[in-house]
Amino acid sequence: MRADVAAGSGAMLCLQGQGAVKGIAIGQAVVMSATALEVAHYRIQPDDVQAECDRLRTALAATSQELQDMVGNLPDDAPRELGALLTVHSMLLDDPTLSEQACELVSQRHYNAEWALTTQGQILGEQFSAMEDEYLRERGGDIRQVIERVLRVLSGSSALLPPLGAIAPELAGADDSLIVVARDISPADMLRLRGGRFGAFLTDLGGATSHTAIVARSMNVPAVVGAGNVRALVRDGDLLIADGATGMVLVNPSCQVLDEYRRRQAAFVAERAELASLRDAPAVTLDGVHIELHANIELPEEAVAALAAGADGIGLFRSEFLFMGRRDPPGEDEQYQAYASVVRTMAGRPVTIRTLDLGSDKNLDGEATVAVNPALGQRAIRYCLANPALFGTQLRALLRAAWHGPVRILIPMVSNMSEVHATREALEVARRELEARGASYGHDIQLGAMVEVPAIAIAIDPFVECLDFLSIGTNDLIQYTLAIDRSDRNVGDLYDPMHPAVLRLIANTINAGERVGKPVAVCGEMAGDANMTRMLLGLGLKEFSMHPQQLLDVKKEIRRAHTHALHVKVASALNRAERIDLAGLAG
Ligand code: PEP
Ligand code: MG
Repeated sequence: MRADVAAGSGAMLCLQGQGAVKGIAIGQAVVMSATALEVAHYRIQPDDVQAECDRLRTALAATSQELQDMVGNLPDDAPRELGALLTVHSMLLDDPTLSEQACELVSQRHYNAEWALTTQGQILGEQFSAMEDEYLRERGGDIRQVIERVLRVLSGSSALLPPLGAIAPELAGADDSLIVVARDISPADMLRLRGGRFGAFLTDLGGATSHTAIVARSMNVPAVVGAGNVRALVRDGDLLIADGATGMVLVNPSCQVLDEYRRRQAAFVAERAELASLRDAPAVTLDGVHIELHANIELPEEAVAALAAGADGIGLFRSEFLFMGRRDPPGEDEQYQAYASVVRTMAGRPVTIRTLDLGSDKNLDGEATVAVNPALGQRAIRYCLANPALFGTQLRALLRAAWHGPVRILIPMVSNMSEVHATREALEVARRELEARGASYGHDIQLGAMVEVPAIAIAIDPFVECLDFLSIGTNDLIQYTLAIDRSDRNVGDLYDPMHPAVLRLIANTINAGERVGKPVAVCGEMAGDANMTRMLLGLGLKEFSMHPQQLLDVKKEIRRAHTHALHVKVASALNRAERIDLAGLAG
């Protein structure tokens, strides 16, 4: 989207993308050359099929090797995510779905290697784009990036982008006032750019969970992604303002606009500094209520960020991410290492590990769901109980990890007490197996359930009595309460966290925990939204779990809140099933 705005002496260009990492950057553009190479499409002679396939396989292997070398030589200060992302790219290259299918196109249709590769890439990319889950949809971008890398190798150049000096010789080596503008930035390119201390990243492609966004977040560099055609509209050396919160990009702004954004930038920097000082401050309200702040993680490495943000523990480790994007599920030892590393990093703080939440939009590679309505089908605990070998392996790994510190096992999508009993039995079987092997394991592991199906929030008592803790998954609770598919954009405006029915279910669950003295957390997106903190405190919530980056914003709200006053306001609105006015809870 673009709009020309007349301002000052020249014309200021205003572009809108998606804000991916908060922060305001003001600086000169460094435009990276297009990574989509123009490739020749021609048919080869039948006699040349073998040689063309060899050329393709050699290029794939060389590119994969180049990526693996980069992983092996990662600098100590490189963001942790980069190693994992580069490995994913090299695995995509080694995947036969890419190489063998492309070679099929060479041998059957006599396409040249480049044509076969881009065709197969398009097929895979389309399969990813059709996926419901936003994270998986974004993975189509990874396919495109690795293919561009192989095309560079096939064309005789390096798999890497040209050095920065070749992009903008006069700007190379300058400081963090440079703003990188690109069609897309792959993890490998991010690694190369890392040394340049850039002020922001702007890309045509990508979404909030694209790799550019993930790595920029870990580098703490503002980013705007999915800006459409920013690379075509911006020239090297243009003065840019990028607002990573709103996704706004201003090209060659007027002096007045520049002054205004300098003021906002200074305010943002001051606010971050103030927030950083809260890291070790207690999360206690004005009336002395202590609140637990936990972190949500998807990969073991993220525990470091949780600790750095001052988290009291891990409130949700989405273990299914260890299983996705690979050919075979991880075995017991590999899972044990992953869980134990988080437990060790958290050094005595509780670590809540959710058992596999597969099914619906998160499937094992090559395992397509056949359910008519996958969100209501065999997902999460239903899937695990139907696959006892897979579940048993995970439970043994979890029990072994619990030997290193406090582990809480969290069961996703529970709707019936029979699932809780069956999980306890499976845990008992896993325990006996470890015992028989003489393996060390943790003895006082806690068992809890996600409250994300309305049925259990309504009939909560047996669950809260039988389990050690509960965690409310508001993302799914909203979806199932309001009958709104959380990944369907067409009904996105009806996905309403503030719906009185949703809030009553949350209140009912918190009150039930309070009655029997068992902890209840919220680990859905609501917990990390600082605008909702006061409302959740008003509902009586004492444990929040969120992305580590959101933790200090929420802590700031907690330290300014008075829970007693909030309880009164929230309860009176809920009793009348009225919408709660968030503005009315402020101050
Ligand atoms: C939820 O449903 O709120 C939740 C935390 O789980 P997920 O987003 O992984 O479904
Ligand atoms: Mg959920």
